[in-house]
Amino acid sequence: MTAGNSDQTLPIWQPATGEQQASVRLGTADDVNDAVQAAAGAFPAWSSTSLSRRAEILFEFRALVARERHTIAELVSAEHGKVTADALGEVSRGLENVEFACGIPHLLKGSYSEQASTGVDVYSIKQPLGVVAGITPFNFPAMVPMWMFANALACGNTFVLKPSEKDPSASMFLAQLWQEAGLPDGCFNVINGDKFAVDRILSHPDIAAVSFVGSTPVARHVYSTGTAQGKRVQALGGAKNHMLVLADADLELAADAAVSAAFGSAGERCMAVSVVVAVATIADQLVDAIADRIGRIAVGPAADPVSEMGPLISQDHRDRVASYVEGASAAGATVVVDGSNAASEPGFFLRPSLIDDVRPGMRVYDDEIFGPVLGIVRVRDYTEGLKLINSNEFGNGTAVFTRDGGAARQFQHDVLVGMVGINVPVPVPVSYYSFGGWKNSLFGDRHIYGPDGVDFYTRTKVVTSRWPAPSTSQIDLGFPQTR
Ligand code: NAD
Repeated sequence: MTAGNSDQTLPIWQPATGEQQASVRLGTADDVNDAVQAAAGAFPAWSSTSLSRRAEILFEFRALVARERHTIAELVSAEHGKVTADALGEVSRGLENVEFACGIPHLLKGSYSEQASTGVDVYSIKQPLGVVAGITPFNFPAMVPMWMFANALACGNTFVLKPSEKDPSASMFLAQLWQEAGLPDGCFNVINGDKFAVDRILSHPDIAAVSFVGSTPVARHVYSTGTAQGKRVQALGGAKNHMLVLADADLELAADAAVSAAFGSAGERCMAVSVVVAVATIADQLVDAIADRIGRIAVGPAADPVSEMGPLISQDHRDRVASYVEGASAAGATVVVDGSNAASEPGFFLRPSLIDDVRPGMRVYDDEIFGPVLGIVRVRDYTEGLKLINSNEFGNGTAVFTRDGGAARQFQHDVLVGMVGINVPVPVPVSYYSFGGWKNSLFGDRHIYGPDGVDFYTRTKVVTSRWPAPSTSQIDLGFPQTR
């Protein structure tokens, strides 16, 4: 899709009804350029604004997001389809990042070494990069932008956000809240669009850094293109998150956790559990417990307060997810619960599916499905389970369920994954830690938000200074030897 002229639009669907509710105009090269120029124009004043004033605006923004949390959640539910409780949770987890950034005067403290050499002090300061861009996915239209822009702005950068073209309204609303909070014009800009706008951002000479969250193929493209243009890039990609259940686990707890983590947000979470790795001795019991719970999940629109799981984002995506269930038996897996053809109502609904006897080499195992399909892989023991997880191309999140502290500790040490849960199925770190996967789940060397976010959005300057007494200097062409 390209947007060479200003008339191109894409539909925004209402996933719960399958109807088009709006359209989004795709940004042109001029639109991207205008947004970057506005951000570049605002940078000198914003980066020189005192830390206390920046913090004041962040506190004000925090209060506005808290006040408007229901409005934001409604916008998210209407365009994404997730149920209201889940959308409110998304706003809360985003808000955490704003709260973290409110402490920016503390976070930007440099370091100081008095008397590093005789009469010489050395200190470091952290300065913003300039104009930075964020490119975000459809599945967290409020939270993921907050992961990025809270720290970026607090550090003194100005920001250009390119939200998902599938559900951009939350970003537009957040822009209004920034204005109301007193953020100067030009500091925060939203450019709508698709691949065309992304590629313009990646090639724009006035953008210093890009944060990306989305699928792995696009993350790889963003990372390689952006870094080739000399930009600092962090690009978070897709996932296949395994939950290892050991023989001594509390199986009721494990079954509750697997169902919550696999089918929350209809499986459209990068930290969703998509594979349960069950040790053989408890596998039958666990599969029965999960299947029993699946039957009780209320699938329906966000507008219905009893709904626990909403529709998928689009008809295409719904059909693609269903195709994994349809093809699973032929590939040798066992479909225990088939939710793929239970969607006679309008809208992009699927019911949850459970597929047993899944193995590497099957599509249902190898691909990120990003829908309500949970696979079970049976393994002999811990060692075989660990090997499976560590062989996977993704390394975003994982979890172990056990009552053995030693086994859990061994797992946290051995596993090649960036975020680990111990009896916690969706281990999204709190905002004062950072979020990021390993392997094909993240390209770049900094995780997103938290302390890593502050590092990503600043560069360090180290100053070496001395104030000698008058007339005490002499010429010395050598490297200093005296200390
Ligand atoms: P996506 O990769 O299709 O889109 C993400 C962004 O990239 C959007 O803004 C989109 O407009 C843009 N884009 C899409 N195709 C592009 C292309 N060819 N070139 C340049 N830009 C392009 O992802 P999505 O479908 O919106 O979101 C779901 C994916 O995001 C899943 O793979 C999920 O695992 C991943 N995700 C990862 C994390 C994480 O933290 N690792 C968090 C949320 C979502």
